[in-house]
Amino acid sequence: MATERLLLLKRRPDPVVVSNVEDDDDQKWGRRRIRCPRCAWEPDRDDLWACLCLHSWNTFDTGGRCPACGRQWTETQCLRCKGWSPHADWYGGEEI
Ligand SMILES: [Zn+2]
Ligand SMILES: [Zn+2]
Repeated sequence: MATERLLLLKRRPDPVVVSNVEDDDDQKWGRRRIRCPRCAWEPDRDDLWACLCLHSWNTFDTGGRCPACGRQWTETQCLRCKGWSPHADWYGGEEI
């Protein structure tokens, strides 16, 4: 189980109109500084990660937990440097 890792899937989400949930997301993202511990890349809200169940979502919306199957991912792959880091390390918040 420790060797299981989040599959990388870089694509744009389907053009779905989001209305009411938008405000809550803005708050969440505005409060936390999320960035790659390795290269300081900051993920965009449109970036997607894919689970083994093939569901794709923004993993920082759920703290690394797949909303489709409930799998908890302890490591997250950077979409830029491709490096793996513990999910919690992305919330370091320290300026470089
Ligand atoms: Zn899943
Ligand atoms: Zn990186």
